[in-house]
Amino acid sequence: MDLGISGKTAIVCASSKGLGRGCAEALAAEGVNLVLNARGAEALEATAEAIRAAHGVTVTTVAGDITTEEVRGEVLEAAGDVEILVNNAGGPPPGLWNDWDRDDFIAAFDANMLTPIALMQAVLPGMIDRGWGRVVNITSGSVKAPVPQLGLSNTARTGLTGFVAGTSRQVAWAGVTINNLLPGIHATDRAVMLDSGVSKAEGIPIDEARKNREATIPAHRYGTTEEFGAACAFLCSKHAGFIVGQNIVLDGGAINATI
Ligand code: NAP
Repeated sequence: MDLGISGKTAIVCASSKGLGRGCAEALAAEGVNLVLNARGAEALEATAEAIRAAHGVTVTTVAGDITTEEVRGEVLEAAGDVEILVNNAGGPPPGLWNDWDRDDFIAAFDANMLTPIALMQAVLPGMIDRGWGRVVNITSGSVKAPVPQLGLSNTARTGLTGFVAGTSRQVAWAGVTINNLLPGIHATDRAVMLDSGVSKAEGIPIDEARKNREATIPAHRYGTTEEFGAACAFLCSKHAGFIVGQNIVLDGGAINATI
């Protein structure tokens, strides 16, 4: 299927690794030019070079923390008239409900709620003027079913989801769609970090922690970044113009719900 987005420009935040990189690769495979961002310059450059070599698209990099206004400004400037925005940032640390103080909540809100909102506020006017745009926010299955040890994530991402629910319906008339992708567990560094936490807490090897978690997923495995990227690219495609304000779960069936 031709996704109809060849030659468009996309910002993919937090994309040197993991799910962000999966989205960047899938968009590049469709001929989309990219502005990629991550804090670590070395991994970011390596990813950019691999994508250029594989897909022949233009890839511009902006190294820095996307939760800062300065780096967001650099990313926006590098992209110019951007047509696709994929919002992403690192997830907050695990803990229990009484572990966190105000500063911890502010940091989580900054990364997983206020940064994507600020980027949407920056790009939506241009997308509306030009009559076409796609925004995909990488959130989490924790929006639909809270993860007990990820209270900061449950809280901040639900706030973003509320913003998207209202805003997506206010811009859809202009051919601009905003949707959220809700990952369940995927095989990335983040998954290794979470499995290490379980391994330490339960005194079991990390492989056993992973096997135990896989057994709780109807698909009996973790998701791949390629699968995740493909879903993102479809939401960014010309075919997805009638998908508005949705929260699409990619979790191998892990959330046990009828709808
Ligand atoms: P990952 O493998 O750890 O990759 C994170 C990427 O984001 C890296 O490229 C990292 O590069 C970059 N990054 C992190 N913080 C950043 C910041 N402040 N500014 C710019 N770049 C930043 O994580 P992932 O698994 O892809 O997860 C992506 C998002 O999905 C996270 O919010 C995570 O919580 C959420 N999620 C993941 C899963 C899962 O199973 N993987 C499940 C549910 C939700 P640098 O470190 O160099 O900046």
